[in-house]
Amino acid sequence: MTSPRTRLRMVGRLRGQGIRDETVLAVMGELPRHIFVDEALASRAYEDMSLPLGFGQTISSPHTVARMTELARNGRALTKVLEIGTGCGYQTAVLARIARQVYSMERIAALIRKARKHLRDAGIANVHLRHGDGHVGMPEVAPFDAIVMTAAATSVPKALAGQLDRGGRMILPMASGNAQYLYVIERTDNGLVERRMDPVVFVPLLPGVG
Ligand code: SAH
Repeated sequence: MTSPRTRLRMVGRLRGQGIRDETVLAVMGELPRHIFVDEALASRAYEDMSLPLGFGQTISSPHTVARMTELARNGRALTKVLEIGTGCGYQTAVLARIARQVYSMERIAALIRKARKHLRDAGIANVHLRHGDGHVGMPEVAPFDAIVMTAAATSVPKALAGQLDRGGRMILPMASGNAQYLYVIERTDNGLVERRMDPVVFVPLLPGVG
């Protein structure tokens, strides 16, 4: 249930769902996702579903993680990436296998502790976790090649957009009426360009620390 073969089946499904970035597919084919979910759920880790994470939060499905990473990478080599909403740390780990350094913020302290353990168990060391409100980002580390937000905002957080490097992209779910969509925000020479992508379901981005 948690074997390399199960993981390869997951990658086959991701291909069928339209994921085309071979770098992302290779990373997800190697990274043990079951390390990041509670033991009772380990046998479901490779199914295409979101899973409960505790504290009313959810772990994104493999397809959502693959899609956001593909959009963030956009075929580029990534140096510095910021993630908002560490959760269990799986998306963090996928980014860490692709980017040189990953910075990730989470508002729930207990989840930071959980993610730190998962990342250690997966042998990942190029991640810097911070307990704090992701709305403010990490201005002292900026600019970032990519910012990946895994909780739904109602508008683009201004401070974060300001921390994108030129040519950098922010991938975030945003509520639009009753629905949520993934958005790509790109910093171009002419300012920020916003594009609406796939419909998605995420927990809300909340203010402050929990
Ligand atoms: N990528 C994670 C997603 C977890 S759900 C995973 O797959 O496990 C979204 C996460 O965003 C939750 O852990 C929630 O606590 C966190 N979050 C919500 N608002 C936040 C904020 N303002 N700053 C930092 N993290 C936030």
